[in-house]
Amino acid sequence: MDDLKTRILALQKISAGLEPSSDQRDTYFQKVNDYSNSFLNGLSTFGTYSPEKPRREAFAFGEKLKPMEEILKIFAEEVAAKGIKPASGGYMGYIPGGGIYASALGDYLADITNEYAGMSFASPGAVAIEHELLNWMKSLFGFPESAVGNLTSGGSIANLIALTSARDKHKIKGARIEKSVVYLSPQLHHCNLKALRIIGLEDVIIRELELDEGSRIVADDLEQKLEADKAAGLNPFLLIASAGTTDTGAMDPLNELADIAQTNNLWYHVDAAYGGFFILSEERKHLFKGIEKADSLAVDPHKGLFLPFGLGAVLVKDREAVFHSHHHSANYMQDAVKNVDLVDPADVSPELTKHFRAMRLWLPLQLHGTKPFVACLEEKLLLTTYFRKRLKEKGFALGPEPDLSVSYFWWPFSENETDFNKKLLEEIHKDGTVFFSSTNINGRFVIRMALLAFRTKIGQVDKAVELLDEARIRLLGRL
Ligand SMILES: *Cc1c(COP(=O)(O)O)cnc(C)c1O
Repeated sequence: MDDLKTRILALQKISAGLEPSSDQRDTYFQKVNDYSNSFLNGLSTFGTYSPEKPRREAFAFGEKLKPMEEILKIFAEEVAAKGIKPASGGYMGYIPGGGIYASALGDYLADITNEYAGMSFASPGAVAIEHELLNWMKSLFGFPESAVGNLTSGGSIANLIALTSARDKHKIKGARIEKSVVYLSPQLHHCNLKALRIIGLEDVIIRELELDEGSRIVADDLEQKLEADKAAGLNPFLLIASAGTTDTGAMDPLNELADIAQTNNLWYHVDAAYGGFFILSEERKHLFKGIEKADSLAVDPHKGLFLPFGLGAVLVKDREAVFHSHHHSANYMQDAVKNVDLVDPADVSPELTKHFRAMRLWLPLQLHGTKPFVACLEEKLLLTTYFRKRLKEKGFALGPEPDLSVSYFWWPFSENETDFNKKLLEEIHKDGTVFFSSTNINGRFVIRMALLAFRTKIGQVDKAVELLDEARIRLLGRL
């Protein structure tokens, strides 16, 4: 017995290393805070992209302990200084993320208290906060309070939950799979196709719909394809539309599609991961008409609400459809009394234990209110118009007027246009002050500009135009 106690006490001494004293915590926190401030204060001079790769050996760890200064130095030099920097206002590629400061404080509190956010039995407060945020989103998108929702890690899991519910509602399994039809746009985000494969629907029939010149689904084409498929004895069950495609930010005609879906008994899912929160803009609200008729929708606060990566959301009207695959009871959960008011997050998601991620949105909303978020979204829309105007003045060719804040352009050049624009983008990447990505539109290589980083201000847009113009002149001079 004494031997056992001695061993326990010896281990207790070593494991105490996981519990810094109050003074040590102050010291650690001070150093991390100093670094955070130097990072944020230096952002404007920091650049947005570096093609350099980190030295992998810098990340090695072993029994030799490192002081916080050294760890922060490795972080600054090998992580923060390399690759794309989404925290920078010069980030205009792909779909920019955010990283508002207050979210970090929310995450900090979530980690310190480690509230169990999967079930209200364990943390009624954490779950109530998640419900508060989901109810706000239901009211934004015109979903009834009876809808269920979940805060996910991002849009991919949000779409996965919605499509699983669609599958279960329409009982798409066994021999039915090969006769069942999904209608979608060739511009739909690939994570939806990935989700269909993950949930066992690899063999459904996929009908890609025709797009108009603005890359939006042509509703008439959907009606024609539906009729043909029904006549052929197939089972149309799912329509997926986008509120803001990733490639060009196009808004599918949500209202028209909603009516067709309703008439034909299709599950109507809207992927609003990129564009959803633009519904907060009075001027663009009209583009979202019909989203309230969707059966489910996915939206990404880590895009449209400028949060750090790690927060998506899904809303689904049909509770039973969601619970079919996601609800589970087990013996070891028998103490978890079911709360009838607050649906447990674990019953709406593949996750049981989850990060208390609601804090990263709830705390900023409490501190700042919604006004600065709305203003930031409207600012991005106006900056998109401004950016395009300035590029046009410099002689660049532009894609069509965008619905939201993603657009594209290229330098029109009769001899080898693709090659010239690829080189132009390379020049911008070499410089690193701003970052764009590229895409192919109707066979043409174009440079994409996506304005959604909350730190993108008019100064960065002017700088980007200047850099593009200079690079273009330099390249032409070399020919
Ligand atoms: C980003 C995006 C997704 C994927 O979301 P993640 O948060 O990256 O998982 C899905 N759909 C659209 C339209 C997107 O822009």
